[in-house]
Amino acid sequence: MAKKILIIGGVAGGATAATRLRRLNEDDEIILFDKGEYISFANCGLPYYIGGTIKERDSLMVQTVEGMEKQYGLDVRNFSDATKIDPEKNTVTVHNTQSGETYDESFDELIISTGAKPIVPKIKGLADAKNTFTLRNIPDMDQIKKYIADHNVQTATIIGGGFIGLEMMENFKQLGLNVQLVEMSSQVMPNLDFEMAQQLHSQINLHNVNLYLNDGLAEFQNDGKKLILQSGKELETDMTILSIGITPANDLAKDAKIELGFKNAIKVNKQLQTNYPNIYAIGDVIQVNNLVDGSETNIPLAWPANRQGRLVADIINGIPAEYPGTQGTSVAKVFELTAASTGDNEKTLQRQNIPYHVIHIHPNSSAGYYPGASPINLKLLYNDDKQILGAQAVGTKGVEKRIDVISTAMRFGAKVDELSSIELSYAPPYSSAKDPVNMLGYVADNEINHRTKTIEWDQVDRLVDEKATIIDVRNDFELTTGKIPSSKLIPLNQLRDRLNELPKDKTIYVYCQVGLRGYNASRVLANDGFDVVNIDGGFKTYKIAKYEIKNKPFSKNKVKTSSGSSSNNLKTLQVDACGLQCPGPILKVKQHMDKMDDGQKMVVKASDFGFSADIESWAKNTGNKVLSNDIDGDTVVATVQKGQGASTPVKQDPELAAELALNDGQLHETKEGATMVVFDGDLDKALASLIIATGAAAMGKKVTMFFTFWGLNVLKKNKVKKHGVAKMFDMMLPSGADKLPLSTMNMGGLGSKMIKSVMKKNNVDPLPVMIRKANDLGIKFVACTMSMGLMGVKKEELYSFVEYGGVATYLGDTENSNLNLFI
Ligand SMILES: Cc1cc2nc3c(=O)[nH]c(=O)nc-3n(C[C@H](O)[C@H](O)[C@H](O)COP(=O)(O)OP(=O)(O)OC[C@H]3O[C@@H](n4cnc5c(N)ncnc54)[C@H](O)[C@@H]3O)c2cc1C
Repeated sequence: MAKKILIIGGVAGGATAATRLRRLNEDDEIILFDKGEYISFANCGLPYYIGGTIKERDSLMVQTVEGMEKQYGLDVRNFSDATKIDPEKNTVTVHNTQSGETYDESFDELIISTGAKPIVPKIKGLADAKNTFTLRNIPDMDQIKKYIADHNVQTATIIGGGFIGLEMMENFKQLGLNVQLVEMSSQVMPNLDFEMAQQLHSQINLHNVNLYLNDGLAEFQNDGKKLILQSGKELETDMTILSIGITPANDLAKDAKIELGFKNAIKVNKQLQTNYPNIYAIGDVIQVNNLVDGSETNIPLAWPANRQGRLVADIINGIPAEYPGTQGTSVAKVFELTAASTGDNEKTLQRQNIPYHVIHIHPNSSAGYYPGASPINLKLLYNDDKQILGAQAVGTKGVEKRIDVISTAMRFGAKVDELSSIELSYAPPYSSAKDPVNMLGYVADNEINHRTKTIEWDQVDRLVDEKATIIDVRNDFELTTGKIPSSKLIPLNQLRDRLNELPKDKTIYVYCQVGLRGYNASRVLANDGFDVVNIDGGFKTYKIAKYEIKNKPFSKNKVKTSSGSSSNNLKTLQVDACGLQCPGPILKVKQHMDKMDDGQKMVVKASDFGFSADIESWAKNTGNKVLSNDIDGDTVVATVQKGQGASTPVKQDPELAAELALNDGQLHETKEGATMVVFDGDLDKALASLIIATGAAAMGKKVTMFFTFWGLNVLKKNKVKKHGVAKMFDMMLPSGADKLPLSTMNMGGLGSKMIKSVMKKNNVDPLPVMIRKANDLGIKFVACTMSMGLMGVKKEELYSFVEYGGVATYLGDTENSNLNLFI
């Protein structure tokens, strides 16, 4: 028998239900009511029409009343406000806002898809603030657009940093307005966790949008031209968008005694039925089960509304179907960045006392060597049962693809370590053979199988306060972009030789830039018996999380990206560092800068947005000058001039300066080094060189001792089995610092014994002790690899702290030296 089905609300959920109902049954009478003029419009596109990205207003109208009626044989009634539902009589009272007519319409089945309405709190002065708007539908959009056109708007303020607020922010910027955004909580985009949202904060500031977090709107003054924030701060504005959230449009349901649940959303069962079996509800107005943790919630997004619209039509037509719940998969564009998430975030899990593990990784969107790759900041949450609880990602490319894959895996119950076994499409322009999603699976597998222990970024400051042993395994040039306070630099490639510098009785915390070298370091240490913990996501996660908001006064003269033209005659270098992961872009800058002339400029492009901050601190720490630092499309474009920062003394973080001095002084512009070539292996010459080197180091000089040919004997510590010519050399040469002969009057070793005894009497340290102390002072011992090869000297024979290099290393260090001895 044909049914009479009424639907209240004709956009996402309602329109989907109506068309599916018709496709399933040609006989039913289907009436669709909407109080507005437009049905089935693209609410998600509204901000982009305001900003001008969507050019044609008509393209937002997915369907028209006439089109829908003709195509589907529906009775579509716009301007029809449903004012009452009578669940006993099975009627809906409808008021036609055009004709003024009010009538009752009976139903066999009713679907409520009334959506949500913007929250507008009672704020002092709001009634007089005619320049204040909300955005939910086409008339709202038209009003905003008209107000901008008619009122010479220069500055717009957004209250609320959720999806709609952020989209409006970007679109206002696109119109060339000054934009400021006020957000009551500590972050924008509440579906992300704080450290992930921090990347958005930095991007928002990069676009000169001023961000006021932890602050709310308290009052409108001067007819809405002045905003008083709860902190007392005053903001001038020409117009304001209130986007502080939405609430289910539940008035009809409430009046009809339809049961309400979470935040007054309509309670429905899995068949989307309310407490009246022939009254269904779908979309933003309903309570759903959180698919991850089973809790009751309300998730107002277009996918669930559309899905429920189809399912409700199936259910009404007797097709077995149910709506299991919502995962909350979402994506948004924030300038060049894409931010996407699925499932629970840490805040939700903490609120519900659900235990979880966290992984942060920063892989490239595609193969790093293929132009256009850019980093993705990817976070995954899982529990002890290996259930994936949620994921978040922020980056320029491939962000939503990864979240969609994880969302799919979650939907079908994949375990976290199974992410590594998902076979994903690969070619260099699109991904890596180990896709970021696979990488998450590998990291999880290592954690689950206790191959690595991790600690999160928010514990790092506590570790610093507790004076924990924190080892930075990056390379020294990376320190110019910042470091965890009090961490000690031991580059990964030196770690195996410097294990003796680390305590066995304490936990060692290691970190690198993004977590990978930290993991490798943690394996080196764990295999040697250390208790070691890797800082998850490396310095990059910590640094992003520590971003400090930088608001600037609005300026009408926007700084343009430098064209790269040079005021002097020196050629401006163009450097493409796109696709390189941090620290790759900085390394590339350094390599080119080393070859440039003073005053010469470099225009460098990088696809990693972190480069914008990194280049500033790098230049500050190296005496160079950043002339411009802008965004162009999906890249950061910075113009750097060599040496021009050095006219004012380089204000280097003292801790960083000390760290660099203890490691590799390549970055020092000041000539405060001393270099020494130790060519001879005689005791007296070795003593003299050590005494001079120690003295120079004590005076604050950065000392490099370069040991070559016979001088290598000074560095010998351990005996190693050798063959052939190497064995012959070994038999003829002294086996270490305590076996060296005197250059003259050695007298078969008697002279050297006499000297040692005189030294002892005079409390002078023996040579091996001097060497150790020199190492403690930070003197760099470099063994010449070329002469090691010639003389068959092996690395295992030498002190563990010895570094290896060729003449380039030595010459590099002499550059920064004003004392150069040949012994
Ligand atoms: C600016 C904006 C951007 C968005 N962007 C995204 C996005 O990018 N991604 C995403 O997933 N979601 C987005 N959303 C949310 C998404 O649009 C909603 O989740 C979805 O439209 C909800 O569908 P619904 O059917 O529940 O309600 P709606 O689509 O809002 O439809 C409700 C309709 O019911 C009508 N109505 C209400 N009460 C009555 C009544 N008493 N009588 C008659 N008619 C009534 C309303 O006029 C309205 O047309 C956005 C929303 C907005 C406003």
